[in-house]
Amino acid sequence: MDYQPLVELVGVSRRYSLGEVEVEALKPVDLKIYRGELLAILGPSGSGKSTLLNLIGGMDVPTGGKVLFDGQDITEFDEKRLTLFRRHQVGFVFQFFNLIPNLTARENVELAAEIKGEKVDGLALLEKVGLRDRADHFPSQLSGGEQQRVAIARALAKDPEILLCDEPTGALDYQTGIQVLSLLQDINREMGKTVVIVTHNVVIGNMAHRILRMRDGKIDSIAVNEHPVEACRLRW
Ligand code: ADP
Ligand code: MG
Repeated sequence: MDYQPLVELVGVSRRYSLGEVEVEALKPVDLKIYRGELLAILGPSGSGKSTLLNLIGGMDVPTGGKVLFDGQDITEFDEKRLTLFRRHQVGFVFQFFNLIPNLTARENVELAAEIKGEKVDGLALLEKVGLRDRADHFPSQLSGGEQQRVAIARALAKDPEILLCDEPTGALDYQTGIQVLSLLQDINREMGKTVVIVTHNVVIGNMAHRILRMRDGKIDSIAVNEHPVEACRLRW
């Protein structure tokens, strides 16, 4: 199929040296992530999920191979360019929300765009995640699920090309986790945003276009629910 992916990993690997010991966190992997797709990453603890996600988003630099983002090899970027790339093109959502405690929900969201030199309507973004009425609350006044919604609104504030979510439901109960995953699915379907989610919540199997399983630092399998290119072509 002649279709340029948003991200392409070519023989990407990541090794850590711990004194005498070498840890191969990620063995050489090839992977294409398509524009508009919802990709789930599953796998046991220590299998390389976070390593893979961080390499996709330029949070980490591979020890082998290259990462093409929109056709550009980000592994060739210097530190400054890589920082700009992350700031402008990548939205991250973490397990523990990482909101700034002394800023309100709205301020947390608006600050993310300011870092990029833009202004956004924090209220409109909070409305998207169903939290308009919590705009003036501080993180400590919000439930875990609400904090994660604010974190998702914050990630969207910079209008990134891709949303990378590392165990976004890891600190939430099962039902709240499902609500957060549904929100991410809506963002994928309604906004056409490319979304990658690392999760242990099995409901993702019914939501994602593709389900990638990691094992021992390798891609064990990729199951296809709906071919992302075809799915996205039909949608817009
Ligand atoms: P997962 O997210 O699937 O739990 P990780 O990608 O965090 O797995 O880790 C994969 C492997 O790489 C693990 O064995 C882990 O201990 C190792 N690893 C990850 N980060 C580092 C690091 N900064 N230094 C050394 N080893 C690391
Ligand atoms: Mg991890």
